[in-house]
Amino acid sequence: MSGFVTRTLSRNEAIMDLSRRMGFPWPVAVREKVPLWDALGLALGEDVTATDPSPPYDRSLRDGFAVRSFDLVGAGKTSPVFLTVCGEVPMGSMPDLKVGQEQAVLVHTGGAIPAGADSVVMLEDTSLVGDLLEVRRSVQKSENLLLQGEEYASGRRLIRKGDILDLRNIAAVASCGAVTVPVCDLRVAIMSTGDEIVPADSRHILPGMIRDTNSSIIMANMTRAGIRGVSLGIVGDDPDKLRAAFNAALESFDILVMSGGSSVSTRDHSVMLLRELGGGEVPVRGLNISPGKPTIVSGDPSRRKMAVCLPGHPHSCAVISSTFLVPLISSLIMGEPLDRFRKVFLPAGEDVIGRSGVEEFIPVRIGHGGEAIPLWARSGYLLAMGGSDGLIRLPENMETLRRGASVEVWLW
Ligand code: AMP
Ligand code: MG
Repeated sequence: MSGFVTRTLSRNEAIMDLSRRMGFPWPVAVREKVPLWDALGLALGEDVTATDPSPPYDRSLRDGFAVRSFDLVGAGKTSPVFLTVCGEVPMGSMPDLKVGQEQAVLVHTGGAIPAGADSVVMLEDTSLVGDLLEVRRSVQKSENLLLQGEEYASGRRLIRKGDILDLRNIAAVASCGAVTVPVCDLRVAIMSTGDEIVPADSRHILPGMIRDTNSSIIMANMTRAGIRGVSLGIVGDDPDKLRAAFNAALESFDILVMSGGSSVSTRDHSVMLLRELGGGEVPVRGLNISPGKPTIVSGDPSRRKMAVCLPGHPHSCAVISSTFLVPLISSLIMGEPLDRFRKVFLPAGEDVIGRSGVEEFIPVRIGHGGEAIPLWARSGYLLAMGGSDGLIRLPENMETLRRGASVEVWLW
């Protein structure tokens, strides 16, 4: 009866069990010196630390005058204070100026603050009256300026190994003068299986054939993990061809992600190959999840190779890729199963139909009132997540939730 799922682990149990057995994190290869912008969206292969403090020197936040706050105590519209202007700091330079008692130096937004000054008074709170500067406002110490290193010191870790370079952190990396970064070079092969599957670029397909969508789904999810996958195309259900393709893939790649072959008729082939890889064992043979139960995983920690068989139905493949495969890869790289979703609890806009005893994921759209509206999806659908904002997660111990109840939502 090897064709049937006999033992199902929960998604979390499976990730934890695999991480332990496989000895994650693995020392993943690093591609050095990738141009910064080419590395956008990729997981970095090493920590990046700041070579300079931020800001690198005291900087003005405004156009105005660098002053000593003590000189302006009590300054106001009806009680202006008069200072002597003793120079200007041109942008991009740091002249040898010092602000002395009752003196002011003209500074521009972002310009360096000269020695002696501890704050900046805004241009609009001042007027030049003859040779003197009339100041109509007092300032606190450090007002309108950034102090050298106030954001972070030199040596601070900006991105962890495995973190993805993106809009949130690229400025800090660029500011270190890092024009290239090391990226994680985990080699992931993607393969679709099935006699009925034809390449996605096939112009005409016969009834009974279907274009390969799962390679694209898996590729898209690999980018969520910060990895560029490599497609090995399609292999039919012939056991010998499958074995040859499977073994060849694991010679050249660290991970093979296959899809299809989850129906009982062909499942035996995949299970057999995964058992061989796992030295007689298949640690994950079915997940207690819906959709996506027929997920199988095995690996060889001594060779640092892993194979993942995802369900063939596109929607199941998509759900498992994002909720299981992405955190599994993250665990492999960083030792931490990051799934890259943002989790919130929202009131259900409609009844959310579920069943007890299995973890369920349902595409969801967030309504204008912030309510979670479940989207109707079947495992063979292609656009089940199109227009969705994320997935509702119904934990194993939860069944149908009524409209208005609080539901767990994982936002993309
Ligand atoms: P299987 O797991 O091979 O039994 O496939 C289950 C369903 O998913 C079948 O309807 C397959 O035709 C479909 N399927 C499997 N692989 C793919 C793929 N790469 N692209 C699109 N549909 C697929
Ligand atoms: Mg198949």
